Amino acid sequence: MVRARLWRVGLGMLLLIEPLGSSWAAEGLNAADERVNRAIGAHVAFLADDLLEGRAAGSAGHELAARYVVSEFARLGLRPGGDGGGWLQTVPLMESQLVPDSARMELHVDGRTEVLEYNLEFLSGPQFTGTNLTVTAPLVFVGYGVRAPELGYDDFAGVDVRGKIAVMLAKAPPRFPATALAHHANARQKSRALVEAGAVGVIGIPTPKDLEETPWARRIMQSRFPAMRTTDAAGNPEEVYPELKASVSLSPQGVGKLFAKAPQPVTEVLSAAARSEPPRFPLGIEATIHTHSEHRRLVSPNVIGILPGRDPRLAGESVVLTAHLDHMGRGPAVDGDTIYNGAYDNAIGVALMLEVARALAEDGRGPRRTVVFAAVTAEEKGLRGSEFLARHLPASAGRPVANINLDMVLLGAPTRRYTVLGVEHSTLRGPVEFAAKRMGLELVPDPRPDRVVFVRSDQYSFVRQGVPAIFPKVADAGGDPVVGQLSPDQFLKEHYHRPSDEATLPRDAESSVRFARFVTLIARRVADAGEAPRWNPGDFFGETFGKAAGSRQ
Ligand SMILES: [Zn+2]
Repeated sequence: MVRARLWRVGLGMLLLIEPLGSSWAAEGLNAADERVNRAIGAHVAFLADDLLEGRAAGSAGHELAARYVVSEFARLGLRPGGDGGGWLQTVPLMESQLVPDSARMELHVDGRTEVLEYNLEFLSGPQFTGTNLTVTAPLVFVGYGVRAPELGYDDFAGVDVRGKIAVMLAKAPPRFPATALAHHANARQKSRALVEAGAVGVIGIPTPKDLEETPWARRIMQSRFPAMRTTDAAGNPEEVYPELKASVSLSPQGVGKLFAKAPQPVTEVLSAAARSEPPRFPLGIEATIHTHSEHRRLVSPNVIGILPGRDPRLAGESVVLTAHLDHMGRGPAVDGDTIYNGAYDNAIGVALMLEVARALAEDGRGPRRTVVFAAVTAEEKGLRGSEFLARHLPASAGRPVANINLDMVLLGAPTRRYTVLGVEHSTLRGPVEFAAKRMGLELVPDPRPDRVVFVRSDQYSFVRQGVPAIFPKVADAGGDPVVGQLSPDQFLKEHYHRPSDEATLPRDAESSVRFARFVTLIARRVADAGEAPRWNPGDFFGETFGKAAGSRQ
């Protein structure tokens, strides 16, 4: 066991940093705070234990984690919101895994055939359209592959993509406002645009900036994990684009070969794209891409607990708190460790959600609106569990009016600086600012809108159903790393999606308790307000998705 560590910083200031999954008493906190701190540590210690083998959706480890959340919900006196009066909502899924060494890619240039090398030059994701797929077609470069008429931008204008494999840069033009960037950079949106243009396959090119964020070596690791889709009533995978018979990405080493016959060198293309003015042109070569994927059907649960509202006029509306319970499971060994524990991603979010649930459930006067707590599955597989939840909320949950999502709350260093993603879109800004002010917290805007974090976790599933949502995070303080602490940036660089994301990483006790209180205060404020949150007039998400919600009541 590891004892809580006290670090002396500067002139006699004492900071309490302890391991993320520590349940040791932390001196310096009052008794109530200490109870919350200890509970957070205990939840994380269990959920991130090696025994749970990284909680991959569909695995025994994830099932165990789900039972843990069930018993916590039951202990708090929540009502079960799952199937058939139970706590679990079964999410039907299909898994696809690429058969190792099955992916082949050939370029046909002037009658010669050149074979690209897997891993080194290209990677393929597992496919859902079929198990054995082969496509041969001419290549056409289409910039970012984005069609955004509302911004006067169209990568498909004037190029013929029908029957061709589209070659495109990752994400979206940097000149786009943050929200539009997030929306158009989304894989779903891009696939739809490609299919509408008539493409039969896609080759993605990470920009230098993308490679800085996720180096090629990391992408190789990620490609070894299976992918998942939910299945519909007929058992067919959803969000699949059967028109696209291939989907690969090219390393900087591979990209040069694609542009061998191009009218412009790739360096010029990249710098034009960085100015949001990529050219589009046929690449003058053909490619054959073959993949062999294996499919498996499975189910994995969302865990749903409900705290019914006390006001009969408002109890039919709900505030939904979500935190994903799944992580990546077992994967390629790093320093001999094959278990991707996911302590910060996202045992911590579930731990915080449980403590918010406890605070609201144990408060003598319950909230006026219903509050729904959901530990969702398959986030790591593309927000599958939350997507299913948002589309199939139990009747007892009422009509969702807001979502608060907790994912990767990086509490490895003391902080009072938070970034609450999504506040700019709706009246949820009010309760967030109220809570921050009351607790003496500083709210800072998203320092990296280009990372499009708002569409990369479970709140986006609710946004897509027209429900205003927020995603509260800890802001990085900047500056040099401090011994014994772990800044958000350090975590992203060293531990994100790696086996080292473990319960032994540092966690600041006071900041953890503060964060749980902050979220509790926001949830309470939203649940008690006379009026439900609304999208701001003319807001991008409100305009795109909000209409459906209004007519869905
Ligand atoms: Zn993750």
